[in-house]
Amino acid sequence: MSAKIAIVGGGIGGLTLALALEQKGIDFQLYEQANSFEALGYGLQLSPNVVRVLRKLGIEKSLEDISHRCFGFQLRSFNSDGILAEWILNSDVPYYQCRRADLHKLLFNSLEDQSKIHFSRSLESYTQKDNQVYLKFRDQNLLITNALVGADGVHSIIKRWQFPYNEAQYSGYAAYRVILPFKEDYQSLLGKATVWMGENHHVVAYANGNQKQTKSWLNLVLVVKDQNWHEQSWTILADKREIADNFTHKSSLLNQILKDMVGNDEPCYKWGLFVHEPLPYWSQKNVTLLGDAAHPMLPFQAQGAAMAIEDAYILAECMVKEKETEKAFAQYQQLRLQRTAKVQQVSKNNGKIFHATGIKAIVRDLGLSLISSVNSNLLNLKTAWIYDYLISG
Ligand SMILES: Cc1cc2nc3c(=O)[nH]c(=O)nc-3n(C[C@H](O)[C@H](O)[C@H](O)COP(=O)(O)OP(=O)(O)OC[C@H]3O[C@@H](n4cnc5c(N)ncnc54)[C@H](O)[C@@H]3O)c2cc1C
Repeated sequence: MSAKIAIVGGGIGGLTLALALEQKGIDFQLYEQANSFEALGYGLQLSPNVVRVLRKLGIEKSLEDISHRCFGFQLRSFNSDGILAEWILNSDVPYYQCRRADLHKLLFNSLEDQSKIHFSRSLESYTQKDNQVYLKFRDQNLLITNALVGADGVHSIIKRWQFPYNEAQYSGYAAYRVILPFKEDYQSLLGKATVWMGENHHVVAYANGNQKQTKSWLNLVLVVKDQNWHEQSWTILADKREIADNFTHKSSLLNQILKDMVGNDEPCYKWGLFVHEPLPYWSQKNVTLLGDAAHPMLPFQAQGAAMAIEDAYILAECMVKEKETEKAFAQYQQLRLQRTAKVQQVSKNNGKIFHATGIKAIVRDLGLSLISSVNSNLLNLKTAWIYDYLISG
């Protein structure tokens, strides 16, 4: 079997690349290890930089139909019932909050030819020889391709072959992901993203689901610093009562949400968050990396999927402009390395800010309250370079 370009991994990054290549008339085949796409309803925030890309792909209207719109942000503390800082997003491009599975479905359904997406195909290894890439799958199938894009996530096999000594490591942070049916008590969270910050804990809350229908959810991500390492990549069933006890504090709204979480039947899982330092390069001749495979990041700036989507569009653009794959991959890498490394760093720094303790937490809270009361628009400056990013083409 042979394919011009093989994409390995049908996550948000791989699927966006598939859609962009299809629209630009470039032949590809995509191989995904799972036998279907994940149906999990966990949330995803899509900031203006990524909405601009999805607009170019012609799916912004459909995205709007499956999302809540976020107009601003709110920072709260575990130590009070009040709001530390609140600001309105300063952008003429929308910011959306949707269910990850809905975006997945949207990308897949936007493809004209879905037969190019192959499920239950798990890559085991590859070799590069004579300008071709030889792929070996776990089912023993072999494939020869002209080029390979590794969109296979944080524990990427393709990255591991390129950088055998640079495995993603457990970051020391773990996240509990929870979905609750949206109810009247949560109204003050609508139209925004809220973060509660506390000593070595933080919680992110926002609405997701289709805002035009009655069924919406409250998406919660509860993050803890936890040095216990379980396995190389891990997700474990969590005890919701224990989480509620650990996160409970002075915020009455958060306490109400935690109580609802305990009373809800849905199981809750704890996910280890894995990262590695920025890589020196992603492209080696006719093989390159994209999304979490290239630059896994802590989710504290909500930009992992955003960077994967930007990568995908820019990679497709480079392949249109430069017919020689090796040069296209080199150009893509040059356009993306610096930006994604900076976002990786900002995400890491946010962890330190959100989890500050003692005097650092007091200074943070005072500073935020002051800026918010004097000129809250200043708080947009921190993210302007991320959200205002323009992609040509
Ligand atoms: C708690 C949490 C909250 C987040 N919130 C946000 C947010 O609000 N906004 C945002 O932009 N980002 C967010 N992110 C980050 C985002 O989820 C990821 O960065 C994004 O999903 C990465 O996409 P990807 O396509 O690169 O990788 P993945 O989504 O991991 O996809 C990789 C795919 O490759 C497949 N695969 C793996 N190995 C193989 C193999 N050997 N052969 C074949 N297929 C293979 C996998 O099955 C998978 O489908 C969050 C992350 C977490 C943990």
